[in-house]
Amino acid sequence: MFVDSHCHINFEGLADRLPEVLENMRSNAVTHALCVSVDLETLPSVLDIASRFENVYASVGVHPDHEEAQEPGVAELVELAAHPKVVAIGETGLDYYRLGERTIADMEWQRERFRTHIRAAHATNKPLIIHTRAASEDTLRLMEEERAGVPGGVMHCFTEPWSVAEPALAQNFYISLSGIVTFKSATDVQDVARRVPIDRLLIETDSPYLAPVPFRGKPNEPAYVSHVGRFIAQQRGISDAELGAATTQNFFRLFKIPAAV
Ligand SMILES: [Zn+2]
Ligand SMILES: [Zn+2]
Repeated sequence: MFVDSHCHINFEGLADRLPEVLENMRSNAVTHALCVSVDLETLPSVLDIASRFENVYASVGVHPDHEEAQEPGVAELVELAAHPKVVAIGETGLDYYRLGERTIADMEWQRERFRTHIRAAHATNKPLIIHTRAASEDTLRLMEEERAGVPGGVMHCFTEPWSVAEPALAQNFYISLSGIVTFKSATDVQDVARRVPIDRLLIETDSPYLAPVPFRGKPNEPAYVSHVGRFIAQQRGISDAELGAATTQNFFRLFKIPAAV
């Protein structure tokens, strides 16, 4: 049994075929999913899905790539996170991948938004879902400055080498791996998959993006997290059942969901 710790089933292509998406989860022994918020404009669709399906949870946050999105304040995030199915703050973080004409200095708005989320995580005692791309140094620095280690959280869709995983683990964070780990060229991520302590590892799809092998390039969905889990089990030389049980327990521990532990 597996859990998808990060998906966007409120996005087009998944939201319009939800009953099938949930049925595919069931038939692949994917028991739960966390539907992650990317902005406040689409948050109602995340909360709606989490309210309708018992095994789907939600988060509240504004993605660093959504520059034009409504800017959240700490109080607003705290208030929205009071929804009974909201188990995390995010996704938040830093993404310097699409700087275009800008410099890193120009991205202060992103860093400020990230700090706001960390403060909301403190206020709610909910874990953070952190997205980092081409920005690992600043991400780790802000996490440290803002003391993100309490309440901690997860570095989602992790694509950095072990040298970044190690300090994130030291700050009380979990590492979540997506279908990228199954790509032949992703040797750094496979190295991380073998080295992360088993009690700090999560798996995810980030669907509808990043389908794992053998579905690479096709639309992704939570059911495919089973392929991510099996691939990592193979890498670590443990059974699918052991990997599934550990990552499932980690999910419930991190997001403080009592019932299924
Ligand atoms: Zn992300
Ligand atoms: Zn995401």
